Parts: sequence; C-alpha cells; structure tokens
Amino acid sequence: MISYFDCAATTKPTEQVIKDIENGMRDYWYNPSSTSEESRKVKLQIEHARRQVADYINCKPEEIIFTSGATESNNLVMGQGVIISSEYEHPSMRIGFTSGNMQLEINKLKRAGASKIIVSHQFVNNEIGTIFNVKKYAEMAHENGCLFHTDATQAFSHVPVDVKDIDCDFLSLSGHKFHAPKGVGLLYIKHPEIFKSSIIGGGQEEGLRSGTENVFGIVAMGKAMELYNYSPSKAQHYHDLKYAFIRELAKRCPVEFHINQIAGNSHVDNIANVSFKNINGESLAILLDYNGFCVSTGSACHSASLEESATIKALNLPEEYRLGSIRVSFSEENTVEEVEQLVDAMVKNIITLMTINK
Ligand code: PMP
Repeated sequence: MISYFDCAATTKPTEQVIKDIENGMRDYWYNPSSTSEESRKVKLQIEHARRQVADYINCKPEEIIFTSGATESNNLVMGQGVIISSEYEHPSMRIGFTSGNMQLEINKLKRAGASKIIVSHQFVNNEIGTIFNVKKYAEMAHENGCLFHTDATQAFSHVPVDVKDIDCDFLSLSGHKFHAPKGVGLLYIKHPEIFKSSIIGGGQEEGLRSGTENVFGIVAMGKAMELYNYSPSKAQHYHDLKYAFIRELAKRCPVEFHINQIAGNSHVDNIANVSFKNINGESLAILLDYNGFCVSTGSACHSASLEESATIKALNLPEEYRLGSIRVSFSEENTVEEVEQLVDAMVKNIITLMTINK
C-alpha cells in the first residue's frame, strides 16, 4: 500500500475522470475536424469543455486554447515577446531575463529598444508553495506598457484563480495537477486576435494551436475543474493536514528542522517543504520510498539531480540545512492519520541517518 504525498508532482486521476475517458474513447474517437455528424458531436464535447474551463477561471470560451500542458502553454507565451520572469519560475518559464527586480529589468529592456515585453510571474511556487501577489505584478507590468503572464499550474484547486481579478493577459494550467490526465492543459489568452502561434499545421484551436485535439484529455480536464475547483472547506482540509504534519514533527523529530517559506508571503497548505539539520534530503526520500511513502526532494523536475534548485538557493538557508529539502504535498484524499504515519516513518529514518552519519 502506497501513501502518496507527492501531489504537486502529479495527482491521481479521479474515478469520475477515468470513467469519462473510458466512455469518450468508446464513443467520441472521431476526428473533431471532420464533417460527419459523429465528428460534429466530438467537436461539441470540446466546446462544452471550453465553456466549463472558461467558467472556472472567469473568461470567455474563445479566450482559451487547449495545449498539452503548462510547459507548452508557457513556451507559447515565450513566442509573444521578450520575457522577464522571476527567479522562482518553473524551468519552462525561466528563460529570457530573470530578475529579482523586474522594474529595473523593464527599464533596461526599454532603453535597449524592446517593444513587446511580457512580464511573467508564477502564481504559486511548485517547491515551497509560496502564493505570490500576481495582481501587483500585473499592475506593474501594465503601468510600464508590458503584458502580464502568470503560470498558475500550482494554484488551481488551492487558491481562487480568476483572470479578471488578476488582470493577466495570459495564464497557464496543466490538468494533471488537479486529477485530470497528463498531456492536457490550457492557455488563457486575453487578445487571441494578436496571438502569434508557433505551432502550425491543421489550424485547430482557431489556428492558434494546430494538431488534432486531445479530446478525452480536454473533456476530462473540464470535469476535473468542476470537481477540484477551490473551496474554503477543501482549503480547511489541506490546512488540517499541513498543520498536523508540522505539529507531529515538532513533537517528535529528533533533529531541528526548518519549514522552507518566503518570509512575509502566504503559502498554500497543500505543500510543506522541510529541511532537516544535517540530514540529506535525498537519502531520507529514498528510505521513505522503501517504506511506501512517496515524497519529493524539491520539485520533481529537479529530483533526479542533486543540485540545489533555484528556489531553495534563493532562500539562503544556513549551510546545515542545505543538504536537500523534502517536499510533502497533499491531496484531498490524504488523512491526518496518514500524515501521522508519514511523520513516524520520517522520525525512524532520520534516526537511522543520524546513526550512519556518526
Ligand atoms: N509550471 C509549474 C509551476 C509546474 O509545477 C509544472 C509541473 N511541475 C509546470 C509548469 C509544467 O507542467 P507540465 O509538466 O504538466 O507541462
């Protein structure tokens, strides 16, 4: 039996979603661009999903294009102008000019003659769960005549995501972060009429993203958004899980530990990133895996390398806490009892590692 605490990496497709995909593969396998009646029905399924997802992020259906996920959505935005992104971005958006001080970077680019600048700041960080004030970044971008993009991949389900409230020009999401299948995502585009697509071909998605649509994934993502949209009661459950985790560690952990956060910011409750004093995070994650507990070291994208991630580097942790952090990320299905079992296993394995280190 696996206890899964790696939901920021990916989530388990929910039963309802699996059922919809199964039915879809049987009944809606026709090419949505063909002219037959069956094909038109498939097209209607896609348009229904477009209305569903548009509703959940508060935009018009024609402002949504379906993609293969946030990586593609982010890359499509990069093709729209010169990008200035934050130091905390996922690697799929950490390109162009990365800066701790975006205003300085904008000024520099303007002086160099750049005409179309896009400021990009993630909504929620994938490693430590920081919630960024994207409204403030959008305002700053617009005051400077720039466009604003936010990568909201880790935000949906955990905070309200409303493109009008943020006032963004682009927003990226990936379905598998909220129990839809992998390989489907979306990009919100405020001005589709001036969007330059780098994916050319059959002209699907109004010519903005060619390629035969991932119909089952798209339909499943619409359903998953309905099932996993943010709600205060779900947020309370995540809060209970995170605080049970911290409380149990504080009671029983044999070494000092540090919850990695950015001071002065709020953090989502589905992610807890912890460093243990003089304990190697990678080794601890491997031992936990032997015991049937899935956790992550930093973000899954970095977990194959022992290199410190840009986010953890930016936190400037003291040397004895820099041996690798553990990211524990919850789903709605986790229980406080499971969290207590995870802490039991952590404590046992930390004691083992302390013995080896002696
Ligand atoms: N942005 C963020 C913040 C993410 O967490 C991820 C996935 N780890 C991505 C983008 C990329 O998503 P995908 O791999 O589904 O394209």
